[in-house]
Amino acid sequence: MTGLKLAGRAIPSTQVTAVQVGNIRVGEDFALIAGPCSVESEKQTISTAVMVKNAGANMLRGGAFKPRTSPYDFQGLGLKGLKILRQARDETGLPVVSEVIDARDAGWVSEYVDVLQIGARNMQNFALLKEVGRLGKPVLLKRGMNSTMAEWLNCAEYILSEGNRQVILCERGIRTAETYTRNTLDLSIVPSVREVSHLPVIVDPSHGTGRLSLIEPMSMAAVAAGAHGLMIEVHCNPEEALCDRDQAMHPSDFAVLSEKVRNLNSYLRERGGTCRDQ
Ligand code: PEP
Ligand code: MN
Repeated sequence: MTGLKLAGRAIPSTQVTAVQVGNIRVGEDFALIAGPCSVESEKQTISTAVMVKNAGANMLRGGAFKPRTSPYDFQGLGLKGLKILRQARDETGLPVVSEVIDARDAGWVSEYVDVLQIGARNMQNFALLKEVGRLGKPVLLKRGMNSTMAEWLNCAEYILSEGNRQVILCERGIRTAETYTRNTLDLSIVPSVREVSHLPVIVDPSHGTGRLSLIEPMSMAAVAAGAHGLMIEVHCNPEEALCDRDQAMHPSDFAVLSEKVRNLNSYLRERGGTCRDQ
């Protein structure tokens, strides 16, 4: 793929660039990121964090700034949410991933989180990409819901070219004719990215399907396709989730999923993986 000076593989290579987050090397160690769609309260976030940690997650997710379709829906707790995430990290030791939606906030938000998430709706917010490119924090770059792989990788290039080499890609589903699922999880993008880029790539089957029953099978499929990790929405009390209730997984179901994906990942790795460079 042309034009990708930093995101592309210059020559077919066996290397994936690992991104260090806490004591995890994303790209080498399997990243299992779990937590609520949004930080709603201290109790909800801490109890979910403890439960996902006990179930095998090695990173905590939680939105403090929510890019909602309607301006009347819950927009997130902002700074208060970031402080709760920091407390959850202190109590569990889990590194924290949270979304930033405005370039003007990126600097101070980065002081509260271990990974800055760029959401699907902001994938091509170039001012935001340049800003997180100037910060020294790992960035999780979600694929836009209407974006090609080339557009997505060029957005990674924006971050890399500002000097920040710590980029993790995340497939989260794209828009197609299908309406049964919230989005169409494009798993063929995983081995495709791995053919043309050295960046680690993970999969979010929660937003990718929007359906609880599909999260586990698509997690297994993502691992088989060569994903370096998963991001799953888990809530301590799914029926009461303020955001994305229909896809909020109960911690006990997440524990089952966690064990299955880790077993599958180990099984595949021991046999050389499904991608050439695993
Ligand atoms: C999220 O992960 O919280 C989120 C809003 O996802 P996406 O940007 O993929 O819709
Ligand atoms: Mn969500």
